[in-house]
Amino acid sequence: MNFQDIQKLDAEDPLAHKKAEFDLPLDCIYLDGNSLGALPRAAKKRVTQVVTQQWGADLIKSWNCHQWIDLPLTVGEKIAPLIGAGQGQVICCDSISVNLFKLLCSALALQKGRHIVLSQNDNFPTDLYMVQGLSDLLGQQQCALRLCAGDNIEQSLNSDVAVLLLTQVNFRSGKIHDMQAITKLAHQHGILVIWDLAHSAGALPVELDQCHVDFAVGCGYKYLNGGPGAPAFIYVATRHQLAVTQPLSGWMGHSDPFSFSADYSGADGVNRYLCGTPAILSMSALDAALEVFADVDMQVIRSKSLRLAKLCLDLFAQFPALSALQLASPLNQEERGSQLAFSHPDAYAICQALIANKVICDFRAPNILRLGFTPLYTSFSDVWLAVTRLNQIVESKTYKAPAFMRQGKVT
Ligand SMILES: *Cc1c(COP(=O)(O)O)cnc(C)c1O
Repeated sequence: MNFQDIQKLDAEDPLAHKKAEFDLPLDCIYLDGNSLGALPRAAKKRVTQVVTQQWGADLIKSWNCHQWIDLPLTVGEKIAPLIGAGQGQVICCDSISVNLFKLLCSALALQKGRHIVLSQNDNFPTDLYMVQGLSDLLGQQQCALRLCAGDNIEQSLNSDVAVLLLTQVNFRSGKIHDMQAITKLAHQHGILVIWDLAHSAGALPVELDQCHVDFAVGCGYKYLNGGPGAPAFIYVATRHQLAVTQPLSGWMGHSDPFSFSADYSGADGVNRYLCGTPAILSMSALDAALEVFADVDMQVIRSKSLRLAKLCLDLFAQFPALSALQLASPLNQEERGSQLAFSHPDAYAICQALIANKVICDFRAPNILRLGFTPLYTSFSDVWLAVTRLNQIVESKTYKAPAFMRQGKVT
């Protein structure tokens, strides 16, 4: 395959025009949108507007006249179609960690007589930490974490388990769980399921309603491009909304916050999952960022994502030096999210050397190099250039320079 073939792929790409909707540095190849999405031009414009015209000029009136107060629900409704959720089930608020706390409490309270939360031993650590914290708070008799290996989930489902907490796409390997099959099996054992969609929402089609999912959380700053620390979202299936409670009973989740009543009475529906005042600046950025998805089909995004990854692997096969990197993602593309993971003993240094060569990707301990594909702004030429530079670095061993071994606080 030569560069002309690659340019042809870009010329025929139905999503090629979307790249212009992002404010990306010209000389940089960005393969880390799975960690922090790039900046949509619409988000940049909106934040300036919100700061100058709304906050600056209209001040507190903006809660009503610019509908700040409705923003958590407005943004939730914009995320809903991307994850196969009907109206009134998604709200934007807090972080995944905080939202998991709320949902774990909700789900455990619905499961009288059961107290086990089952999860996967290599789940994203914050998901496990939140269960551990809740366990410390409530005691092992009310909440206990049980872990199993990722390919041992089905065998671990039984009537002891109250809640199954899983991330659909593994953050290291990119391996996808079969949401429909696992949710169905869990329900057969009377288990409620919480799905973490951090690496799914905006990356691949998700069908929460169709899969009869009970609860879900997801991330605003990865594939949804809401900006660093963008608020997360929460999904609560309509059938659970009358019965659920959550303990972070802040005033924004009250049925009538401005009655200033001394007693808490939770709002109807998914609004009950709000706690404190929404972060309007970052939520506005996410709201604008979601406009990028208004005219695209998640199937088209998925199909390009798979082709980007296939090109990457085909190019790897062309360069003998790259056989030093072992694929740590499933070989079958249907089992992968929108990233490829490779293991190498010097993965950290290789990642740093790539970044120095203007290919931004990331490293995950202990030995994984992650290349993320974001079809809205990753081109086939980007993948070509990235793999070519990676080959130069690995073949010449320039990554062995001491400068590439230095670790920052964030990897
Ligand atoms: C990124 C990520 C998170 C982040 O959680 P926050 O509390 O929003 O920082 C959680 N879970 C998974 C699986 C992630 O990939």
